[in-house]
Amino acid sequence: MTSTSRRAGPLTRRAHTAARPGELTAQTAAIAGGPKAKTVPYGAGKRFGPEELQQLKEALDQNTLFYAFGKKTAQFKAAWSAYTGVKHVITTSSGTAALHCAVAAAGVGVGDEVVTAPITDLGSVIGVLYQGAVPVFADLDPHTYMMTAESIAKVLTKNTRAVIVVHLAGNCADMDPIVKLCKKHKLVLIEDCAQSFGARDAKGRLAGTFGAFGCFSTNDFKHISTGDGGMVVTNNDGLALKAQLFSDKAYRRDGSPNNPEFLAPNYRMTELQAAVGIAQIAKLPKIVARRRQIGDRFTERIAGLPGLSAHGVKKGFCCTYWFYMFCIDEKKLGATRKEFVKAVAAEGITLSLGYIDRPVYRYNLFTDRNILRHSEFPLTNKELKRRYEYPEGLCPVAEEIIATACRLPVNEFFTDQDTEEVCEGLEKVVHHFQSKNQ
Ligand SMILES: *Cc1c(COP(=O)(O)O)cnc(C)c1O
Repeated sequence: MTSTSRRAGPLTRRAHTAARPGELTAQTAAIAGGPKAKTVPYGAGKRFGPEELQQLKEALDQNTLFYAFGKKTAQFKAAWSAYTGVKHVITTSSGTAALHCAVAAAGVGVGDEVVTAPITDLGSVIGVLYQGAVPVFADLDPHTYMMTAESIAKVLTKNTRAVIVVHLAGNCADMDPIVKLCKKHKLVLIEDCAQSFGARDAKGRLAGTFGAFGCFSTNDFKHISTGDGGMVVTNNDGLALKAQLFSDKAYRRDGSPNNPEFLAPNYRMTELQAAVGIAQIAKLPKIVARRRQIGDRFTERIAGLPGLSAHGVKKGFCCTYWFYMFCIDEKKLGATRKEFVKAVAAEGITLSLGYIDRPVYRYNLFTDRNILRHSEFPLTNKELKRRYEYPEGLCPVAEEIIATACRLPVNEFFTDQDTEEVCEGLEKVVHHFQSKNQ
């Protein structure tokens, strides 16, 4: 029993009160006829309340909802600048738009390569492709699921112009070596922080404040919501102007005549979204603190379970868990991932098969080479005599993560009871399969 006695409480207790085979106890997995670990519905709450309503009323009372005329966008920008400590904020209609603005302002165009992550939202690469550039995928760390300076260095070529680091699932990537690498190779560093509001490195620096640009999404599924929306932050005056112009048809909103110098979409946020955003930013510190607490608690109890490897966070870093993703070793666990997820579901616990079912580069638009239609451009560039391929096995670690990951939802409204019951259910299921296979 020496190996189990070092583990967390419930495991040790169970070792001492081991049931006879076939006997049903509170520790029997639900799938084997035991009681469900989850005894009450998950905690829930209202994300929007009187604070948002007051802001919306003020926005409507202005008699304009245009971002350049009303006060709400300006207030929202000031609040986001204060939260991040970054000088300029550009508001956009989505996180995808924010990233597209950053990519365009970085000067990314035809013939350029942009390094990014294989496990992410398609929004990380949409802007790259629309600018006629190609995404190149850097593999991930198997524990934190983050791109690393080493994995980025491996895929750099003379055509690389920018790097989009994706801070996945609430983690903050290890940025110091990445910043150094980008400086050395004169690459524009863009951070995709859509899933990592409030995430910090060991020195307490916020994700989104290391690179030339930090990009955020406030779509309805993120830490804070404006329905849809996004922000770009940058300390560089020139880059801020370019990103601003790209978000609004390259029109100037300072009274000077319009004479667009480049093709730019309309990615404007309205005063209504900004109004809701002001109230949401005020709630963000509590949201990230609570999510961190819940995720770190999952890790405390999952880390000791055989066959499960916890959502990795680098020592001293602050992860704000957009979701909690652990990986399983089917051999050590004695069950397939599907069997495991089914058994956990029987406990009344929400658990999904990972985050996405394939790396971004295996989506049809890449495998069919069908980006802009009627041509394989930019994946095939006849002029430059280049052809980009995205075969299976391109990023083996990422593919392994996708094949073995299980995802627990994290929500700031979850109670301590929710967290403990989820952990108890996972422990029960792990022991169920372990004892079955002894
Ligand atoms: C959500 C998300 C985006 C895109 O944000 P939208 O607002 O939905 O366009 C981009 N990158 C990552 C990592 C995301 O999670």
